Amino acid sequence: MKKIVIVGGGAGGLELATKLGNKLGRKQKAHITLVDKNSTHLWKPLLHEVAAGSLDDGIDAVSYRAHATNHSFNFKLGAMRNLDRVNKTISIDPLFDEEGCQILPESHLEYDILVLALGSVSNDFNTKGVGEHCIFLDSPQQAKKFHHRMLNKYLQLGVKETNSVNVSIIGAGATGVELSAELYNSLKQVSSYGFSHIKSADLRVSLIEAGDSILPALPKRISASAHRELLKLGVDVRTNTMVTEANEEGLLTKSGELIKADLIVWAAGIKAPDYLKDLAGLETNRINQLIVKPTLQTTLDNEIYAIGDCASCALPNGGFVPPRAQSAHQMASLVGKNILATLKDKPLSDYKYTDYGSLVSLSNYSTVGSLMGSLMQGSMMIEGRLAKVVYVSLYRMHQVALHGYIRTGLMTIVEKINRVLRPRLKLH
Ligand SMILES: Cc1cc2nc3c(=O)[nH]c(=O)nc-3n(C[C@H](O)[C@H](O)[C@H](O)COP(=O)(O)OP(=O)(O)OC[C@H]3O[C@@H](n4cnc5c(N)ncnc54)[C@H](O)[C@@H]3O)c2cc1C
Repeated sequence: MKKIVIVGGGAGGLELATKLGNKLGRKQKAHITLVDKNSTHLWKPLLHEVAAGSLDDGIDAVSYRAHATNHSFNFKLGAMRNLDRVNKTISIDPLFDEEGCQILPESHLEYDILVLALGSVSNDFNTKGVGEHCIFLDSPQQAKKFHHRMLNKYLQLGVKETNSVNVSIIGAGATGVELSAELYNSLKQVSSYGFSHIKSADLRVSLIEAGDSILPALPKRISASAHRELLKLGVDVRTNTMVTEANEEGLLTKSGELIKADLIVWAAGIKAPDYLKDLAGLETNRINQLIVKPTLQTTLDNEIYAIGDCASCALPNGGFVPPRAQSAHQMASLVGKNILATLKDKPLSDYKYTDYGSLVSLSNYSTVGSLMGSLMQGSMMIEGRLAKVVYVSLYRMHQVALHGYIRTGLMTIVEKINRVLRPRLKLH
């Protein structure tokens, strides 16, 4: 029986493991293993809500082990480190507990087909002090770290000469913009949970962008609309501002200004994990992404596919597939199809990226974005309630790919019930 190993159970990898488990694992036509360094999955676009406290990841996270059992694949907990292409094995780091005691030694896993779906991490472009003084929103753990620090700052308000909480967010892409708005929403909730002394003027969010507009990847009309909404909330939006250093006091800009900050989030670009740069001689680009052919096989090894943020896939127009959840979702579908074709000795299909547009949620205040696709000529701007519905439906599509329609429907009902039963904000 063929051994199919998928490393990384994120937006792309978990959907693929689920699909292959249902199609092949259930009928024992292949042995499918998913490897992830965490034991639960949370859809990454929700991380800014975890950071602001408006989402409890303990409720929304999917247990890999339980999900694997329900969908006929195996789950292996651990971080992949090395790849041996000659012997077709990957090595998995030893596993340690919270006290640093080793639970499991290094292990190895054989494959016939390997899919790398390792995602991306924040790119600090080697900016001085960023590693020590900034928080990245790369994982639920980091998002929770930000949330705890934010709650501690609220506790200190009015005590120890703390009169305001200053948050600086570097990078006005979707993550930075969404987090800025979500922080104002969570502040409103905090004041209704026994922090009545906290007013919206106590929170000062600076959103710092090196380019001349926020949401640079989106059409100007959308970025202007989001900019207006952020100003209304009170966000200090600073475009054309290049950060050169982060330190204990805050951020230094190229013009020599010090922007004081209690908490700093770095969300200014991504790169694939550094260890991919030298992974068994596979071809990578300058941000460590694995270069793939149109079939999504890596250029130097047909048995190894790469999907999602860690893959660099050229577009016919000379650009590259953007690192987005919708790309990871589409790539997972294509690789699923190609693996099934390989097992039947049929030809592989090429990946065709379809841009359905981009939406940016400004928490409960607004949603802005553009829709694209075969129904529309070019792109159509949408805003408000309709945009919110489409934005939420992106997550629902991911849930449907994992759990099917009936379970997703039930989960939606449970979410609504929880809104009544549980606090609106994670308070610890
Ligand atoms: C705050 C935020 C908001 C976003 N909002 C949007 C949005 O609105 N719309 C949109 O389209 N995109 C959005 N994105 C981008 C989107 O989340 C990513 O493009 C998408 O998650 C990429 O999917 P992936 O499968 O490639 O990687 P991921 O979903 O990041 O999954 C990677 C997986 O690999 C695992 N992993 C990593 N290294 C190892 C290792 N060595 N061994 C084992 N496992 C490993 C990780 O634990 C993780 O589970 C957002 C991102 C962030 C951070």
